[in-house]
Amino acid sequence: MAKKVMIIGAGGVGQVVAHKCAQVPEVFGEILLSSRTKAKCDRIAARIQEKYNRKIQTAALDADKPKNTIKLIKKFKPDIVINVALPYQDLPIMEACLATKTHYLDTANYEPKDVAKFEYKWQWAYQDKFREAGIMAVLGCGFDPGVTNIFIAYMKKHYFKKMKYIDIVDCNAGDHGKAFATNFNPEINIREITQKGRYYENGEWKEIDPLSVHKPIDYPEVGPRESYLLFHEELESLVKNFPEIERIRFWMTFSENYLTHLRVLQNVGLTRIDPIVFQGKKIVPLEFLKALLPEPASLGENYKGKTVIGVQIEGEGQNNQIERRFIYNVCDHAESYKETGTQAVAYTTGVPAMIGAMMVLTGVWQGKGVFNVEEFDPDPFMEKLNQYGLPWHETTF
Ligand code: NDP
Repeated sequence: MAKKVMIIGAGGVGQVVAHKCAQVPEVFGEILLSSRTKAKCDRIAARIQEKYNRKIQTAALDADKPKNTIKLIKKFKPDIVINVALPYQDLPIMEACLATKTHYLDTANYEPKDVAKFEYKWQWAYQDKFREAGIMAVLGCGFDPGVTNIFIAYMKKHYFKKMKYIDIVDCNAGDHGKAFATNFNPEINIREITQKGRYYENGEWKEIDPLSVHKPIDYPEVGPRESYLLFHEELESLVKNFPEIERIRFWMTFSENYLTHLRVLQNVGLTRIDPIVFQGKKIVPLEFLKALLPEPASLGENYKGKTVIGVQIEGEGQNNQIERRFIYNVCDHAESYKETGTQAVAYTTGVPAMIGAMMVLTGVWQGKGVFNVEEFDPDPFMEKLNQYGLPWHETTF
């Protein structure tokens, strides 16, 4: 029986989630798209009406306060809330889901506004409350985190007795034609990149200066690209859920142009997240910078090129042999734009969020409590990736 989904956040990712849910009326019978600015929801709803002849509901919502979200949930009565607003809203939205006993799903872990910290501890702390309420919170169900975790669970299930060394590799070989722009929310993106890098090896976390470790990685369909070691939130849950891992790292590509702009912005203080006083008013430089930069949702139109995101794993195969496997997806910016009006970074995040919600609503993924996606059976999810626009490929390396 078709269910009701409430989406929070009408940015680039929210636009993709709304489109993809609209494509599957047999699961998502009714859709409510809510966000801080209702006009953005209405614009997306009009596009969906025109493209799929489906009416979706829209609402203004400030999700910083649980009481606002509770009110809207009580009115619409969704079976699941997909949170694709910003990481700052994760905890208030989880509170609202608890209060109304509604399933929850997001794509990025909670961050406090005043320190750029990527940790699951705040959301994992809800484990008992969600279990007692008999509902599920599915954390990090975008591409990375999300599909990358599921790729690893799939590899473990089908090929590896022991996964020893894992590299998650994320390449955006696209060109949006702008001098400088970020592919998802600029504030969240810049906070992530300007942090110290971190990786896990032999039972401990090793820290490096931001962007100080890099090397060329050869990406399928794209070729070699300089890739930088960063901390990324899925490393934390993967190490917990697969304690056999000896080393896990995350690599992401950046162009020289991007890094030069970032360096200048940092040097002049525009990436700071502590408030400064400007003309008698307190402002946060990074929030000001965000207001100047293009919105990620607006980048799609002339975006060319591809993203390639995957996982390379080396370890002990099921017959004790040395096993080396590479699993990845390639996504084209222009094709993503044609289908959903946004670029591939939003597309690769929004499609898995829709599929995760589908897994919960159809009872394929079940449980009570707070889960990271690698804890579920990967196979049905992997099958849906092929069906809904993110086909994957396997090879050795
Ligand atoms: P955008 O900035 O484009 O969109 C965020 C949306 O959330 C905006 O529409 C914004 O409204 C809305 N919003 C912000 N604050 C509130 C609030 N208090 N209440 C209600 N709505 C609010 O970001 P993206 O779409 O690029 O990213 C969305 C999420 O996806 C982020 O959390 C990001 O970290 C995550 N992400 C995850 C990835 C993954 O692979 N796992 C990859 C990329 C992104 P307004 O327009 O009015 O400001």
